[in-house]
Amino acid sequence: MKFEDYRISDEIKKSLDKLGFRKPTDIQFKAIPPIMKGEDVLAIAQTGTGKTAAFAIPVLDKLQYQINRRRSDGIKCVVMVPTRELALQITEVFEQLGRHTRVKTFCVFGGVEQGPQIAKLEAGIDILVATPGRLFDLVSQGYIRLERVETLVLDEADHMLDLGFIHDIRQLITKLPRKRQTLFFSATINEKIKELAYSLVNKPVRIQI
Ligand code: AMP
Repeated sequence: MKFEDYRISDEIKKSLDKLGFRKPTDIQFKAIPPIMKGEDVLAIAQTGTGKTAAFAIPVLDKLQYQINRRRSDGIKCVVMVPTRELALQITEVFEQLGRHTRVKTFCVFGGVEQGPQIAKLEAGIDILVATPGRLFDLVSQGYIRLERVETLVLDEADHMLDLGFIHDIRQLITKLPRKRQTLFFSATINEKIKELAYSLVNKPVRIQI
């Protein structure tokens, strides 16, 4: 199976081609179809497997159709990540894959001033990549609203728990619509991670790479 055989928009196919991505990796092959169908996913996959594009391709594809019809009216997808480095890396993947679409991605993380991030948020974005601490601060102050979120992605969930983000994540979940798609990615699995995962997902498709 090649990407050209997928029912994804030509704009995204063009970007995949430019990046030299011809065939899906294992995680992409397994995760893209259920994500496109709107199902929840619980995936155990390490960095280097192509997991970022596994959620970025279907999320961008869905938003691309929505945004072609009308301008963005709020954040539609939130990707929670443990670190600033991962936030920047994931944002770059969304930007590269979405370069021929009108979908806007932006990231926020702690350790830097809030001001420039707030200014950028006010311009209107569709996908927000964020570390839980800064996201919680900006939501609490009213700079970010999560009522329109349709897809929640947790990437490197195990690493987020190790860094002590559980409280922020739990608080943020209460601000998200109950009716949403949740995509949960972790490199490892244990009882604590399972407990968090199953409190967030609904009848997930389970994928282990
Ligand atoms: P990730 O696991 O998301 O960090 O991705 C690991 C690396 O694989 C990145 O450098 C991607 O650019 C690359 N990659 C992801 N998907 C594909 C694909 N379908 N074909 C070739 N390279 C890919």
